[in-house]
Amino acid sequence: MAHYCFQCGTALQPGLIENRLREVCPRCGWIHYEQLKMSAGCRIQQQGKLFLVQRKNPPFAGCWHFPSGYAEVDETPMQTAQRETFEESGLRVVPGNLAGVYFYSDDPRGNGVVVIFDAQIESGEMQPSPETTAVRFFSPAELSELPLAGMSGTACVADWLAEQEHV
Ligand SMILES: [Zn+2]
Repeated sequence: MAHYCFQCGTALQPGLIENRLREVCPRCGWIHYEQLKMSAGCRIQQQGKLFLVQRKNPPFAGCWHFPSGYAEVDETPMQTAQRETFEESGLRVVPGNLAGVYFYSDDPRGNGVVVIFDAQIESGEMQPSPETTAVRFFSPAELSELPLAGMSGTACVADWLAEQEHV
């Protein structure tokens, strides 16, 4: 599919810029820098169980993941994590320490990085949203049976499970 210049609308052409093949505007010189998508979310645990939400929509429909989503340009990662958790689960949370930063390259919408914070529930009622079909806590044993959403979700759950073995 052809892409067009963000500044002048001319069809972009491939060009070697900084040793990478990028799309360049032959008319005004604008360079399309493809960048990682930025997401953030929360890792919530209670009594040895981990909170996950089930995706309603593709990609990864029906798979479970941490409440998380794309950052808006005027948000800090912590604000994104809070907002997305509320939108996807109904829970108002207070994000605390960084749990991990996870890269993914298996999402058809593009590669990205998700910043996950450990978070405490402050208020709210746990309930699915238009984006999620179910929300609940899982024990480590239950997690092993679960379809997880993508490589970042899988890695983050694996890290949490590894931590449980040392508690
Ligand atoms: Zn242009």
